[in-house]
Amino acid sequence: KKLVFSGVQPTGNLHLGNYLGAIRRFVALQEGNDCIYCVVDMHALTAQLVHDDMPSQTRSIAAAFIAAGIDPEKHIVFNQSAVPQHAELAWIFNCVARIGWMNRMTQFKDKAGKDREQASLGLYAYPSLMAADILVYRATHVPVGEDQKQHLELARDIAMKFNLDYAEHISKTGYGVDITVGDEPVHAYFPMVEPLIGGPAPRVMSLRDGTKKMSKSDPSDLSRINLMDDEEAISKKIRKAKTDPDGLPSDVDGLHGRPEADNLVAIYAALADKSKAAVLAEFGGQQFSVFKPALVDLAIHVLAPITGEMRRLMDDTSHIDAILRKGGERARERAEVTMKQVRDVIGFLY
Ligand code: ATP
Ligand code: MG
Repeated sequence: KKLVFSGVQPTGNLHLGNYLGAIRRFVALQEGNDCIYCVVDMHALTAQLVHDDMPSQTRSIAAAFIAAGIDPEKHIVFNQSAVPQHAELAWIFNCVARIGWMNRMTQFKDKAGKDREQASLGLYAYPSLMAADILVYRATHVPVGEDQKQHLELARDIAMKFNLDYAEHISKTGYGVDITVGDEPVHAYFPMVEPLIGGPAPRVMSLRDGTKKMSKSDPSDLSRINLMDDEEAISKKIRKAKTDPDGLPSDVDGLHGRPEADNLVAIYAALADKSKAAVLAEFGGQQFSVFKPALVDLAIHVLAPITGEMRRLMDDTSHIDAILRKGGERARERAEVTMKQVRDVIGFLY
């Protein structure tokens, strides 16, 4: 049984990339594992301080989790700020992480934009809070899109440095767990985090620009398919999606150097649960004027039930609020077990 953790920020409309890269995989991991899924509202402050619709954004992410098929009774669904232990551990990790490590983070460079001096300190420290989100439960498996790979490597570095720097204290307190790093057996406190990145669409790209990832925070709504889009919007966005003038190639090699074509084929493959090769075996040689309507139908077929359920859950928020409240209580209890031990390891009187 694996302990799985992942989070989604309440920063805007959930899109197909969030669904295929993350949420759909959260659902699949429930079977046989212990899963904790979080609406990471504290992360949402890093790029934009004031959110007029934070409560409804938070509820809508939770609603998407439930609508997609996450069971909040068997697993935990909650919002990050309800568990202050995340922030407490993040502070400690801020002191573990090195500035040189943070300086290599590409998401910071992308999101900070040109005037880096004006970015928030929170945006810079984001990966340290993300490491705390995971490790405050001592979770081992983290399903994320490919864009988060570098942050998970940083989480491993933070865990490793904490384990090494506090090795003596950890042995003295007796809280350690035996893990293996490479082939070496190590008595450590924090486990090594395993990223779960994969499937046919680990990185869904913008419909307007095949070199940029699809994002909640992209100002162009045409760049993404939102989980709350109706059939008409889905159809319009796919019809308008950027493509090149050629038809579809007959094999995967033929997608090379054609980011927009590659992206649409990857989306189709992920929605149909097929490989890209299988999709091209069916559509190779056809024009986009044939492929796009098929993609529209498939996207509507997969998304409509989720959209409908999300709308229903958002109509009367008392159900979602109860799930978040209960999830928050359960998460707090578990996070506090870790934090009591961490305070002991460090030597904080408590
Ligand atoms: P923002 O632009 O505010 O950062 P986002 O769309 O990147 O929003 P996040 O909340 O940061 O969404 O990420 C939630 C999850 O969705 C993460 O696991 C992330 O890796 C995944 N994800 C985000 N965008 C994509 C994408 N285009 N393709 C695949 N997975 C994605
Ligand atoms: Mg993101």
